[in-house]
Amino acid sequence: MKIICIGRNYALHAKELGNDIPTEPVMFLKPETALIPKGHPFYYPAHSEDVHYEVELVVRIDKVGKHIEEKFAPRYYSTIGLGVDFTARDIQQECKAKGLPWEKAKAWDHSAPLGEEFIPLEELKDVHDISFSLSLNGAVVQKGNSSEMLFSIDRIIQEVSKYFTLKIGDLIYTGTPAGVGPISIGDELVGYIAEREMFRFTVK
Ligand code: MG
Repeated sequence: MKIICIGRNYALHAKELGNDIPTEPVMFLKPETALIPKGHPFYYPAHSEDVHYEVELVVRIDKVGKHIEEKFAPRYYSTIGLGVDFTARDIQQECKAKGLPWEKAKAWDHSAPLGEEFIPLEELKDVHDISFSLSLNGAVVQKGNSSEMLFSIDRIIQEVSKYFTLKIGDLIYTGTPAGVGPISIGDELVGYIAEREMFRFTVK
């Protein structure tokens, strides 16, 4: 399986990092090793001194597809989860400055913690109105809603599937809202979809 991530999908987040609002989705990949094995803690990586959290709604693909039209995209997923696109911001700034790819900043082992539970769409009612948030040591640091996405989940599936065959189990991290920031060892992160706790872990 593969993890496809969308960058700059919320206008306020694109601006907070000094980027232009994209006219098409910004895409990058993480390998399967970016997930954290069940029960394994999240360790602050040795290669960075400025790791940032980015909480994101995650779509799990449950049907193989290529060149999927936006109007047919809802046939390719039935649940939504929540994860973190951890980013070594110091390395990413270097990569951006040199015009190099982002993998060292984004795709390292365990950089994509994911809540175990995926919520069926029927329970969420409207895929274009899913609120989610992240709290850090008990204080809400990021709040988003899928209605604020520059590119909707269905549009993302259309764009991504132009380039990559989507396979069962593939994950799409759909971008982060404003409010990203650094983590430290000992911090506790809790992610929510609406009021529902989706993950909780401490940085080791
Ligand atoms: Mg992200």
